[in-house]
Amino acid sequence: PADVETLGRGTWTLLHTIAAQYPTQPSPGQQADIKGFMGILSRLYPCWVCAEDFQKFLAKSPVRTASRDDFGRWLCAAHNEVNVKLGKPEFDCNLWEERWRTGWKD
Ligand code: FAD
Repeated sequence: PADVETLGRGTWTLLHTIAAQYPTQPSPGQQADIKGFMGILSRLYPCWVCAEDFQKFLAKSPVRTASRDDFGRWLCAAHNEVNVKLGKPEFDCNLWEERWRTGWKD
């Protein structure tokens, strides 16, 4: 349905933009914030089938928070998991920062 798509696009925009602003050398507190945020998001995400699958993904692929690139690539892999599930093309994760930080037209 359209609202699941609008919610998804908005949420991915928020998440990849958070990754783009995440420090290259995060403190332990900043790393704990990202881990906590993703865990809470996976429980509150208001598309229950999406949330359930996202919790499974988090359980098998714990959030990586050691650096901006580490988190950005982990998030790209998480997004690709959903892309594959929905039959969408996989995104080249070497381009995540160009897409979300330095910017291009979508
Ligand atoms: P989106 O997938 O929303 O992507 C937006 C933009 O991000 C793209 O145009 C592209 O430029 C960029 N992009 C694409 N892939 C990547 C990547 N791997 N890394 C970085 N940038 C990328 N929908 C369902 O129907 N079922 C689900 O189970 C489901 N689970 C979801 C779980 C989560 C945590 C989230 C946030 C969303 C989920 N969605 C789910 C929504 C789905 O992922 C899409 O957001 C929605 O289908 C709209 O897709 P879209 O084609 O507009 O682009």
